[in-house]
Amino acid sequence: FEPWKDPKAEPLIRFRNVTKRFGDFTAIDDLTIDIYEREFFALLGPSGCGKTTIMRMLAGFETPTEGVIELGGRDIANVPPNLRPVNMMFQSYALFPHLSVYDNIAFGLKRSDMPKSEIAGRVEEMLRLTRLEKFAKRKPHMISGGQRQRVALARSLAKAPKLLLLDEPLGALDKKLREETQFELMDIQETTGTTFVIVTHDQEEAMTVASRVAVMDHGKIKQVDTPANIYEAPNSVYVADFIGDVNLIRGTAENLGGGSYRIDVGEDSRAIDVSECDAEIATGTPVTFAIRPEKILVTKEPPEDRANALEGTIIDIGYLGNLSTYHVELPGGQMVKAAMTNSSRISRRAFTWEDKVWLSFRASAGVVLTE
Ligand code: ATP
Repeated sequence: FEPWKDPKAEPLIRFRNVTKRFGDFTAIDDLTIDIYEREFFALLGPSGCGKTTIMRMLAGFETPTEGVIELGGRDIANVPPNLRPVNMMFQSYALFPHLSVYDNIAFGLKRSDMPKSEIAGRVEEMLRLTRLEKFAKRKPHMISGGQRQRVALARSLAKAPKLLLLDEPLGALDKKLREETQFELMDIQETTGTTFVIVTHDQEEAMTVASRVAVMDHGKIKQVDTPANIYEAPNSVYVADFIGDVNLIRGTAENLGGGSYRIDVGEDSRAIDVSECDAEIATGTPVTFAIRPEKILVTKEPPEDRANALEGTIIDIGYLGNLSTYHVELPGGQMVKAAMTNSSRISRRAFTWEDKVWLSFRASAGVVLTE
């Protein structure tokens, strides 16, 4: 399922050079983006970067200052919120406390022009979809937080919107329930085929649920891609740093041709060799080499089969159960973090503080970034 790669696929949502200003403050800056039918699309970014503003423009609560938003090929500038095939899921505390689960789900349908005879069938369908059949008669305070969340979801899907907007939908749940609910959301999204756009500042959540993630910074989208590509091939230091743990090693590039580079990192004339790099970077350019901790192997002896091996000293070891992290200082003072699973043949007991070790990685293990 990768409609964004198909040049013939028509996006459900199209933002064309959309700018939104509040007074002289630019909340969204020249945004162009396509979102496809059946996508689970995540907007990810720090507080204030403009995620909610994008949602509110889709819902019709804000209009763009400049640019065009299309839904299903039609400019929606003049379509009021209630006439858009769009719904917004609110957190579970927006449920009506005095109404049963059933009536909460039926609420919007009763106010629509759906015939009474059809409403019951639709509510039953939503109860099945969200596995709430047994709780239909209960009031919201008589079910768990996770179940309330499912009622909120059932209510927002009852009118079968083409697009469902979810603004931090799981923010009120604790970590374990949140993770379970993420999988439920994915199942329900797939079953209904509804396009979901979710706002979150939790990068793990975005990576788990989304088909594609847009990483935002100050009203701009820095990168839009699949979770794996965002993680493995970030296009900037900002994205690399925002998603997961990363080492950002500063140096100077020497272009060896064919996507290969040698990066002088000023560590006692040691350099990092990089291959399979997409960017074209001139020799002498200051660059950042970004590599994830788990791509780095820590050994006592220099390994022979890897392109890069840097010697250093263990400063700190963090034991996290399934894995351990090693903070290693290079001779020039740069710190590098490596992570290894504790089930690997090199056990956590193999190293201790002050050990001289080798950090090694393949030539294609990291990315070279210029911005
Ligand atoms: P958070 O994660 O904190 O919800 P966000 O990424 O959703 O943040 P937005 O709510 O979209 O951010 O806000 C983006 C910027 O626009 C913020 O700096 C905010 O103060 C500003 N902003 C939003 N709405 C208005 C408004 N009605 N008037 C003035 N400024 C606004």
